[in-house]
Amino acid sequence: MKPCPICKYETRLIHYYPNSVCPQCSYQTKTKQGQVIQFKNKPYYGGFISIIDTIIGNEHECYINDIPCLAKIYKDEIIIETIY
Ligand SMILES: [Zn+2]
Repeated sequence: MKPCPICKYETRLIHYYPNSVCPQCSYQTKTKQGQVIQFKNKPYYGGFISIIDTIIGNEHECYINDIPCLAKIYKDEIIIETIY
């Protein structure tokens, strides 16, 4: 366990992704402009897509409480990590 870099609550430590945020924070991803951005696994082919206001894209950058983060994939699970 380790503290979430955003909210500081204890969350699980994912090997290789020490800056990953907790599940609650990972549901609050926004774009730099403040639009809600979600990440979903691509069916069949691996990887993931971003969805901003129903528009499907290939974004990885996002913000939680104005803190810059990146979406990554780890064993088919999308995780959000703070950049700094
Ligand atoms: Zn958190």
